Amino acid sequence: MTNKSELALYGGKPVREKLLPYGRQQVEEQDIAAVVNVLRSDWLTTGPNIEEFENALAERVGAKYAVAFSSGTAALHGAVFAADLGEGDEAIVPPLTFAATANCLLYQGATPVFADILNDTLTIDPAEILKHITPRTKAILPVDYTGHPAELEAIRAIADEHHLLVIEDGAHALGATYHNRPVGTINEMTMFSFHPVKHITTGEGGVITANDAKLAERLKLFRSHGINSDARQRQQEGGWYYEMIALGYNYRLTDIGAVLGLSQLKRLDANLARRRAIAARYTEAFAELPGVIAPRVRANVEPAWHLYPIRIDRQHLTTDRAEIFRALRAENLGVNVHYVPVHLHPYYRERFGYRGGEYPIAEAAYENLISLPMFHAMTDDDVQDVICAVEKVIGVFQSN
Ligand SMILES: *Cc1c(COP(=O)(O)O)cnc(C)c1O
Repeated sequence: MTNKSELALYGGKPVREKLLPYGRQQVEEQDIAAVVNVLRSDWLTTGPNIEEFENALAERVGAKYAVAFSSGTAALHGAVFAADLGEGDEAIVPPLTFAATANCLLYQGATPVFADILNDTLTIDPAEILKHITPRTKAILPVDYTGHPAELEAIRAIADEHHLLVIEDGAHALGATYHNRPVGTINEMTMFSFHPVKHITTGEGGVITANDAKLAERLKLFRSHGINSDARQRQQEGGWYYEMIALGYNYRLTDIGAVLGLSQLKRLDANLARRRAIAARYTEAFAELPGVIAPRVRANVEPAWHLYPIRIDRQHLTTDRAEIFRALRAENLGVNVHYVPVHLHPYYRERFGYRGGEYPIAEAAYENLISLPMFHAMTDDDVQDVICAVEKVIGVFQSN
């Protein structure tokens, strides 16, 4: 058994000399060259690369349409507008997610209603969704937490029976498949984010994939002030006239971002393969380690592994998540926690009266979660360092 004093937290030598972040972008020379070309071109914002990126992404995912936005959050806001959700409408979301999944409803005056999650995948529990459906419910927003698809078949069945729309938050799940179907094709709308920690990046950016032409039209309207034709189209037509027909925003992605995304998309498959190999290595190492619960993968699902969160198992440990987290950070692992349940944030507590205890599975998971480093540029040595550091820290606190 390791002695506590060997931990970097208590004066020992850290496993790594330099911090390994939990996630990071990979930008290569060809990405830089593509961006420089756009900087020398006529179009810095909505130019030819937007449509090219949208088409390439739609094709990769297998969806008919993809509409790019300035961020994943803006894309979710657009989806809520396109779905026609507003004042008096409710939509069901999981509590264990990034705040944007719920915030996008508030932007349009709709109300997020939380439904607790499944204890294995930590995605929304279909049985809990059913308990929260009211005559005001208009949509479900499942989150493919970590890149593991939510229970999309059961959710789809509930949505069809109750005439609800599904806006899938696939921010973690670009390239994931569910029962051999790619995420991004299964529901009315799916969001992917291109924030630098996600699978591919545009700096800031996001997209909604959809199969319905009307939804795609409404998404485009919303991202550009509610004005019904873009500048390039107007210029081509030689016209000056335009009409604003809805209240939209300026949520346009730049052409600079689009060309970066286009260049990055070419490496998505290699990126996914690397993440899956890292996840397999971690899961193998932690399977027999008392005190650590590795993420679970359901049958017929291929996750995209945006995150690799372990849960610590307090039954086998003499301490709590806080000390283990600090000990791992001291070993120079850039561990993180995903997420503080949304209903526990002060804004939600004050506005909706949540006090904690409403969503026991999400809250219990949150108490024990630690996201380990997971990004495609990690070397085999990096992966080994993570495993060593977890074994070292857990070894000190195992209760047997
Ligand atoms: C990253 C993320 C978002 C928001 O994406 P941005 O591009 O950062 O606005 C939304 N939901 C989840 C689950 C995310 O991880």
